[in-house]
Amino acid sequence: MAEQKNPNLDSVTTINPDGSHYKLHPANVSGKFTRARRIIGFVLIIVYAALPWIPINGNPAVFLDTASRQFHLFGISLDVQDLWVLFFFISGLGFILFFITSLLGRIWCGWTCPYTVFLDHVYRAIERFVEGDAPARKKLDNAPLTAEKLFKRTVKHGLFILCSTLIAHIFISYFVSLKGLYGFIQEGPGEHNISFGAIAFLTAVLYFCFAWFREQFCVVMCPYGRIQSALSDDNTMVIGYDSRRGEPRGKADDPNSGDCIDCRRCVNVCPTGIDIRDGLQLECIGCAACIDACDEIMVKLDRPKGLVRYSSHNALNGIKAKIIRPRFFAYLTLMLLGTTALAVTMYQKARPFNAQVNKMKGSPYQKDDTGVRNIYQIHLSNKRNAATTFDISLADAPAWISTSGTTEGIILQAKEKKTYNLVVIAPAEKYDGTFKFQIVVKSRKDNTTVDNKVSFLGPSPKRYRKKIIQAEEEAKQKAETEAEPSNKP
Ligand code: SF4
Ligand code: SF4
Repeated sequence: MAEQKNPNLDSVTTINPDGSHYKLHPANVSGKFTRARRIIGFVLIIVYAALPWIPINGNPAVFLDTASRQFHLFGISLDVQDLWVLFFFISGLGFILFFITSLLGRIWCGWTCPYTVFLDHVYRAIERFVEGDAPARKKLDNAPLTAEKLFKRTVKHGLFILCSTLIAHIFISYFVSLKGLYGFIQEGPGEHNISFGAIAFLTAVLYFCFAWFREQFCVVMCPYGRIQSALSDDNTMVIGYDSRRGEPRGKADDPNSGDCIDCRRCVNVCPTGIDIRDGLQLECIGCAACIDACDEIMVKLDRPKGLVRYSSHNALNGIKAKIIRPRFFAYLTLMLLGTTALAVTMYQKARPFNAQVNKMKGSPYQKDDTGVRNIYQIHLSNKRNAATTFDISLADAPAWISTSGTTEGIILQAKEKKTYNLVVIAPAEKYDGTFKFQIVVKSRKDNTTVDNKVSFLGPSPKRYRKKIIQAEEEAKQKAETEAEPSNKP
């Protein structure tokens, strides 16, 4: 078996002392964890590809519509002004990840991270199919350029470029929708040079990462990989080597040695080239390949499986592992807070339209002898893919106030945004100072409403009344004065 560990270095396995990349050739492995990871990987690839296809509420399940500045997530539509929701979305998901990491270690990295999913189940699968297992690949690397090598390399890199192009198209369809992407393809790159430039750039980045950079992204670049050691402790479930059972290493027929026969199979299958027997390391992505590899050996030796297994550092050292611990409660509390805030904000934003009310800029109110007026601007945004009719009404308002402006049967076309002015009038004889009320916008399609609490502003009622009375008296006197000459004989 060809050895894949970097012979030049004891620390970072994929980087040579001069900083260059040490190319790893992880060996093929089979077993229950590899099978389960493969099934999960393929399901996830189908999910990633299907999300822009599945329509929910008339939009793709995930559609980050940058052109019309609307974001559609599983039936919930967000406008640009709703983007603060992303804070709860990211922090909610982040806290879930914190909690899972504190319990199960880097299970996200090895099983569900899109980078690992595509690298392991697409690109490495292609490489194994075209060039064979690790020894054959290493031999091909060192061989001179023959027709066979040229052919294999051309096929492999051709398939890599094809997959990178497909993934780039799937990624871009999250931003322009599949329908939009299809239209772009038909119209050609000349018409949509920014989108085609983005696809070409993304294809190049994906090809670079998956064909060459590979595990280095997880080892030196991924921020989650850097913080995961701070999120876990000795009770976290990780993949570990049972040194109490395995040591001292030795030959299979040596009665004085432990169960590890130092075959290095666990090292040779590792995609980051580490030796799990050295303890948990930052480079370990929790892929479980070493468990399957070692179990294979144990079965051949007729020894119990699990020399390398899912366990905690404490359990591997004979200390009773604790699941319930302060870290558990801290992350659980953060996760519950984050997901509750996320659920509440998403529920509030799940409405198929937005109606935001602002006071008209300038003077807060207008007044004359007939009454006091406040002008409100109602910014309506129809998030649906179909025309919708809206009605505007007032709630919790005094019975004597009236409105002028469009309030009924307002039609907005699909995804249309409009601003309406609503004048609210308090008659002079009733006006009694400022008050609060609600402007309610209702969609006739499903009777959903958006309530906006607003304030009606005006002058001090005492002074206003005094002025009105004064004005009324002045007007009366003027009328009487004008009437006087005509009464003279
Ligand atoms: S040590 Fe084991 S679990 Fe960790 S990356 Fe290597 S093979 Fe995967
Ligand atoms: S695969 Fe198992 S037996 Fe072989 S070196 Fe690794 S831990 Fe030891």
